[in-house]
Amino acid sequence: MYSVKRICCQLIVPVVLILVSLMIVWKWPAIQAQFKSSRELSAFLVLLPALPWAIFTLGFLMGWRYNNLGLAAGAGVLALSYFITLRFRPGLWANTYSEAYLFLFPLNMMLCAALIRRHAFSFKGFSIALTLALQVSAIALFCGRTDFSSAPLVSALDRLVPFASIRLNDVSHSLQWLFTLKQWVLFEQIPTAAIFSFLFALTCLSARFLKNRDILLAGYIGSLTAVFLSAAANQAQPAAVVFHLTAGLILIITNIEASFFMAYNDELTGLPGRRRLNESLMNLGKHYTIAMMDIDHFKKFNDTFGHKTGDDVLKAVAARLKELSGRAKVFRYGGEEFTAVFPGKSVEESFLHLENFRKFLENSRFVVRLRSRKKTTPVLRGRGPEAAQKQVRITMSIGVAEPEKRHPTPEKVIRAADKALYKAKKTGRNRVCSA
Ligand code: GH3
Ligand code: MG
Ligand code: MG
Repeated sequence: MYSVKRICCQLIVPVVLILVSLMIVWKWPAIQAQFKSSRELSAFLVLLPALPWAIFTLGFLMGWRYNNLGLAAGAGVLALSYFITLRFRPGLWANTYSEAYLFLFPLNMMLCAALIRRHAFSFKGFSIALTLALQVSAIALFCGRTDFSSAPLVSALDRLVPFASIRLNDVSHSLQWLFTLKQWVLFEQIPTAAIFSFLFALTCLSARFLKNRDILLAGYIGSLTAVFLSAAANQAQPAAVVFHLTAGLILIITNIEASFFMAYNDELTGLPGRRRLNESLMNLGKHYTIAMMDIDHFKKFNDTFGHKTGDDVLKAVAARLKELSGRAKVFRYGGEEFTAVFPGKSVEESFLHLENFRKFLENSRFVVRLRSRKKTTPVLRGRGPEAAQKQVRITMSIGVAEPEKRHPTPEKVIRAADKALYKAKKTGRNRVCSA
């Protein structure tokens, strides 16, 4: 349930931007008439084709500044697509440049998506730049304005080495067939090979997105879809401009969203972290309760099952904490400690929710894999994978406090809740204590 919600949230930016651009393209005659009635607005119409360039430049600079190769290369790939679309739009004349690039574009986007969060100034960054340069050279050499046999390379060779030229012509004819064959009535402007290339990239990216639920992948899926729509609309104005602009914006906004998520959320558990807690404390009203929660004997757990299993259990506990009742906001305070804030509730009102959670956790069973270190023990050695699993129980101690004369500010309430937590530990653990 939670993951469906998360997937939907991550897709909001691409879906909304694509819907808006579809509306703009659909209502374009009316929008254009409106804009042309005013001098300032008609100037905007003239500037519109330049906007995607500004967005791609911004994307490239952001990728370069933050050392994010996926973003910088993504902006480069989109810029190339926009350049080829504007320069060799079908309709101007029949050409093979844009048809060849339509086939290559989805594969390039997949390549960029594989490089997210990779450093720009690296061997991989250099390889990507080289791959793009090779594609441009290949298109320039093998593709002609009207067909593949009119390619500059073929014509030049015809004069110098006629034999090689004949061979190249055969290749060109195969390429011609591969890149220009159009069979699908619904997308009659897009060559079949390009449609398959788009579908292949979309399937691979969607599978990765469903597995990782990474908003950056949602960005590549959105950008790919926007460029596909541009091609489906025959790359005609304003579709080519609006959809390329949308593709660039999707890439940039999803990257900004991802940065915010990383700054405010804890990477391991996905819960909001200390920065978000501090912000939340600054915006609390007069009445609230803060609970400090600490897993019992977690060091021993790590020592027994290993740090990696400890991480898995922390994630599982955090997933259960997301379900804490009483409209509590839960944060990872640090290590195996969590903080729950109940806005507008007294200690008395929050106590039952915390006590219910404590019991729920106490009665939960966590299945842990005994990792290689454990498998070497005489009892487990030689047994099947089911023998390397064990059910364990986890308990938590909780301290709660609310603002009062002795501790009026949120920081002091946290300290009071911490003292109450200490009391819970001292008096036997697995309990809720108030200040
Ligand atoms: P107590 O019941 O008194 O809280 O005992 P404890 O062992 O839980 O407390 P202590 O503070 O001594 O140890 C906390 C342990 O939590 C130490 C560290 O190994 C573990 N820990 C902290 N952060 C992480 C983490 O991110 N992953 C894992 N696997 N372990 C962590
Ligand atoms: Mg602790
Ligand atoms: Mg502990």
